[in-house]
Amino acid sequence: MATERTSLFIFFGGTGDLAYRKLYPSMFNLYKKGTLREHFGVIGTSREKLTDQQFQEKVFKSLGVAKTDKEAQKFASHFVYEAHDVTDKAHYQVLKNRADELDKQYKLNGNRIFYLSLAPSFFGTVAGFLKTEGLTDTDGFNRVVIEKPFGRDYDSAHQLNDALSKSFDEKQIFRIDHYLGKEMIQNIEAVRFGNTIVESLWNNRYIDNIQVTLSEKLGVEERASYYDNSGALRDMVQNHIMQIVSLLAMEQPVSFTDVDIRAEKVKALRSLRVYNVAEASTNFVRGQYGAGDSQRAYRDEDNVPHDSNNDTFVAGKLLFDNYRWSGTPFYIRTGKMLADKFTRVDVVFKKPLIDIFSFPQNHNAPLEANVLTMYIEPHAGFSLRLNAKTNGQGFQTEPIDLDYFVDAKDSKATPEPYERLIHDVMKGDGTNFSSWQEVSYAWRFVDQIRKVWDLQQPQFPNYTPGSMGPAAADELIQRDHRQWVYRLNK
Ligand code: NAD
Repeated sequence: MATERTSLFIFFGGTGDLAYRKLYPSMFNLYKKGTLREHFGVIGTSREKLTDQQFQEKVFKSLGVAKTDKEAQKFASHFVYEAHDVTDKAHYQVLKNRADELDKQYKLNGNRIFYLSLAPSFFGTVAGFLKTEGLTDTDGFNRVVIEKPFGRDYDSAHQLNDALSKSFDEKQIFRIDHYLGKEMIQNIEAVRFGNTIVESLWNNRYIDNIQVTLSEKLGVEERASYYDNSGALRDMVQNHIMQIVSLLAMEQPVSFTDVDIRAEKVKALRSLRVYNVAEASTNFVRGQYGAGDSQRAYRDEDNVPHDSNNDTFVAGKLLFDNYRWSGTPFYIRTGKMLADKFTRVDVVFKKPLIDIFSFPQNHNAPLEANVLTMYIEPHAGFSLRLNAKTNGQGFQTEPIDLDYFVDAKDSKATPEPYERLIHDVMKGDGTNFSSWQEVSYAWRFVDQIRKVWDLQQPQFPNYTPGSMGPAAADELIQRDHRQWVYRLNK
């Protein structure tokens, strides 16, 4: 059994899609493992009118277990509900009284986690009232969890952060980036800093380029109205891709703690070159999917304007101006309606300086580059591509792959990102959350691309569903005499 953690949770937006689909099932997993046991209580709050019992039934249903599951019934009995409009100041007193009651009932030592799973426009309001109305006035810890998106550009993110900072210190604020809860993302650090053969080669002398691909097979589904105001650059690059890239680019932290890891990630992001207009135009491309055989074009999706210039795809080249990475580009791409759903990192090493096997009578194919691939999802694992001699007479070489994949049993036991992240919040460990500095440097980079795009009229749609994005994404990398490691029709 795990160490039991003690806290009250207040979920704002407690009847939302995220809460039922991810948050409560993740908490139930923590309950089954013993991290949550007797000493926890939950208040769900939103505008919907529900009794405690009705809420408990909904929570129970979200767990997807048999009706007779006693453990789930006991878990759900820790949940209560308060209908509440977050802009209504008076109602925070009702919430406070309920919080104090649960604190006594479950002996929670004044520990409180405020989970803001509602529209970002409310984050500042809620944080303000939590403080002024005394909900944070306890002897235990007070932590606030913020869902994405954290702003839509640097200025709005800055404003939001200022509002939060009036009520909470940076170490009390946990900005969710659920990619950081993924097993293989956390493995980047283990592989880099736990292996001499990896870290000693982890620089521009031996690495030719690094490629990060977050590919989605689906379109916008029912998120169209949100997505049309966001786009791939804001929705995926500013947060998930920037986080992955900073873990790949950072120096070794002094210790494996949130403070030291974040310091190195920030340092890496500070050396990311912020592009001028010409660089942004050359080094980034955007796309929007058109119609496919059985798929309508993005502009024909429900709740998308027919003249939308929103980006459903982005590819780009990132350059770090530091000693480790100067001259080694990071290529990134992400998009919707692509060939498959997966996330991977391909680290392409430089080829041997001299290919001694290519003497004329040998007819040997030129040596290929070594590639270390980190498969993030759906199947977690690694693959290292080496050149080896083919079996048999003569001397020919061929690339072979050394593979490791997390097996099906282990992968079933892998905690859901939200389970891991909620556990981290209870421990007070900010390693897998985005700090304000990380968020702000990422926005400054992304804003510059956005600014240039806003000045130009894109030629949309420019890619077909089931492809890997527009031709311009291939041209971007081919211009540098390279190619995507993952590509169709190899
Ligand atoms: P949702 O629309 O399903 O739920 C929103 C919740 O907020 C509801 O419970 C609603 O009653 C409540 N609410 C709205 N206005 C309110 C008010 N004035 N006072 C009190 N309660 C109010 O949204 P969601 O999909 O659960 O997303 C919640 C947050 O999580 C958003 O910030 C979203 O961007 C983020 N997020 C969601 C997902 C997802 O998969 N759903 C993924 C990543 C991030």
